[in-house]
Amino acid sequence: MDGAPVTRSARAAELEAFHRDHVLGCTRCPLSEGRTQVVAGSGSPDARVMFVGEAPGYHEDRTGVPFVGQAGKLLDGLLEGIGLRRDDVFIANVLKCRPPGNRDPQPAEIRSCEPHLFRQVAIIRPALICTLGNFATKLLSGRPDGISKVHGCELPMEIGGQPTLLYPLFHPAAALYTRAMLATLEEDFARIPELIRRADGVVSAGPAPPVPAPAPDAPSPEPPPAEAPAAAESAEQLGLF
Ligand code: SF4
Repeated sequence: MDGAPVTRSARAAELEAFHRDHVLGCTRCPLSEGRTQVVAGSGSPDARVMFVGEAPGYHEDRTGVPFVGQAGKLLDGLLEGIGLRRDDVFIANVLKCRPPGNRDPQPAEIRSCEPHLFRQVAIIRPALICTLGNFATKLLSGRPDGISKVHGCELPMEIGGQPTLLYPLFHPAAALYTRAMLATLEEDFARIPELIRRADGVVSAGPAPPVPAPAPDAPSPEPPPAEAPAAAESAEQLGLF
């Protein structure tokens, strides 16, 4: 990237055209055959922070919007807690089409679909990319470390040709299964505004806050509580830990 300024209208138009011409009708992998619709992503083309999950689930496939349902509501609440709304950020997944039965994405599907995500990053140019859960974190970091170890630890990276900070977070659905996880998520979310300011160069004086030491791997997740959504997959299936 050459760092040249991009106007708001130009970026919005470029993202819209990219989705229309390359994503919404994509048939690059067999997932196109079973989907209801492509879930390209939603939010602001001018977002300073992107959230990236794994793949659409049942409700996302039906609505065409990422992170709806209970996990989506929880994500909305976490954003509200730091003064942000969905319209302020951009939310996407590594895969844009729902794998059948919400099974794990396959390597060939990832190879086919990841250029879409990288192009989104190149257009939006976010200062911060928050990966949600194990799958997106391992894929975008290129490292084998699990989310239990690296959550809350920012990592300077280049993604889609764009210098950015990668910031791994637990998947919001983890807080549906393990209530103690909500406090951890809130704690990690609380650093997002400062990380955006730092990445944008607004914070230019004084020492940077300490990077949290990687936490030891979390214990095995508790069984889903009785009130967990009936259609939801297990936390392990969702790649939450
Ligand atoms: S998952 Fe990605 S690559 Fe596969 S059909 Fe959907 S948009 Fe295309």
